[in-house]
Formats: sequence, C-alpha cells, structure tokens
Amino acid sequence: EISGEQIASIGSQDMTDAVWIKLARRVNQVLADPAIHGVVVTHGTDTMEETGYFLNLVTKSDKPVVLVGSMRPATAVSADGPMNILNAAAVAADPDARGRGVLVVLNDVIHYARETTKTNTTSLQTFASPNRGPAGLVLFGKPRWFSKPAWRHTAGSVFAGAIPDALPRVDIVYAHANAGAEHVKASLAAGAKGLVLAGVGDGNGTEALVGALAQAAKNGIVVVRSSRTNSGAVARNVEIDDDKLGFVAGQELNPQKARVLLQLALTRTKDPKAVQQLFDEY
Ligand code: ASP
Repeated sequence: EISGEQIASIGSQDMTDAVWIKLARRVNQVLADPAIHGVVVTHGTDTMEETGYFLNLVTKSDKPVVLVGSMRPATAVSADGPMNILNAAAVAADPDARGRGVLVVLNDVIHYARETTKTNTTSLQTFASPNRGPAGLVLFGKPRWFSKPAWRHTAGSVFAGAIPDALPRVDIVYAHANAGAEHVKASLAAGAKGLVLAGVGDGNGTEALVGALAQAAKNGIVVVRSSRTNSGAVARNVEIDDDKLGFVAGQELNPQKARVLLQLALTRTKDPKAVQQLFDEY
C-alpha cells in the first residue's frame, strides 16, 4: 500500500536548510510508525545528492529511504519519471534495502546517497558513484544488490534524530588558476562559520587562497579541503600540511557533500580534530 504527501513545492534550485529540516523531521516521524515499511522522496535531480546525504546523516531508522527524480519532464517523449518511481517504490519495499542508508534510484541504477553525484546536465544516465560504484540495479521493479555501504549512516549516525532548528552557514570556495582571497573574505563577512575548499587536484589552491583559508582556520573557522575533480579522496597532509595549517581533509566527499557534513558537525564541535574524525567516519 502506497500513500503520498507534499513537503515542499520548489525546485532543487530553491532547496534550503529549512526544507531539509522539515523533510528530515517528517521522514523520522513517518518511519517511527511500525506500519510503514519505507519512504520514497521525489526530488529535483540538481541537489538530490545533497538532500540525500543530509537524510543519510540524520534519519533515525534502518528502514529504506529512497530519493527519486527524473531527467525528462512528464510531457517529454520517453519521459523517465514513471519507471523511476516504480523502481524507487520497489527498492523501498525490498527487505534487503534495510540498513543501507539513504538511496538514490534513477535510470535502473541504485546508488548510495553518500556516493552518488549528478555528472551530466541532461542525460538520463546522469547519476554516478565515481569512487565506490553503484549499490545495485533495479530492473523492472526487481532490485539486485552489489555492495554494502562503507560509511556510518542513519540509525548508526551520531546525528540521527538530533535535527537542529537551524544549521550554521558554511560556504564553498571554488579554486581555480589565479584565485585570490576575495571569496574567502566575502564568506567570512557574510557570517560563514565553516568553509569548504573545492580545491584543484588533491584539494589544493593558490598561495593567496590557501593563505586566506589558513588565516580563517587560525581565527576559529573550520576549513575542510575537498576537490573539484569529482572523484578520489583528499587525505590529510598529502599536498598540504593540514596539521600545520589547521585544516580538515574532506576524504571522499565532494564539496557539496562536505558542506552538508560540516554544517552538521558544527552543531556539535568547532574543534578541527573532532571534525576530522567525523569526516573519517561518515
Ligand atoms: N532543475 C530541476 C531540479 O533539480 C531538474 C530536475 O527536476 O531534475 O529541480
């Protein structure tokens, strides 16, 4: 039996912390009902990976939570929405989907929300899980699973159920050739409590940019290094001396997901060592 309700009527481009908080609380409330087997969340694909990762950190249940969207509108020739929704419901109903954390289903592929990212502007095959591969396939409503999730999530997360009323501001600073300190300064002036570097290569940047971030870290702002390359890991002290500069290494999280974890981390601690531990585990 399937029932539905609307939490927000906005596109991905308008997704806010407030909607995340409302959605997460509702998901937790619904899943606490013993009669409910799982939840499917329909969502625009643009920021689906961020919402999915947020829910992966705060959902207090082992029951399946599946995000689904479509790349073509319902009016298009070969619209993909109906099959995606059927597949998402089948995954949410599958007993083997339990305990896997939040999932994303599109175009016959099941992804872990933590691993997946939108990689193409318009293609049906836009979601990929570049580091660890997909969680499985769902073919005509029948899931088949490939792998277990590698990181802490949902019922096993320290954030599970403890959903704050608001999240601290965390900005992403995008690195590029000749980048200066201006965007770091602007973020700090706007009240950012944390900064994520979408670094070149292995989480790097120009001297001016890295210098401004080091200064911010000295002043108590938590700075996480991630990469704009879209795959791989940013590990501690490889290209940059994180110990000396007080940075956190973002591991396998892309910048937009590192931002989500840092927002939640900052609700508990401002200590870069404690934040690093969260990035090592989640
Ligand atoms: N721009 C849309 C959104 O993410 C695209 C989609 O619905 O997939 O809201």
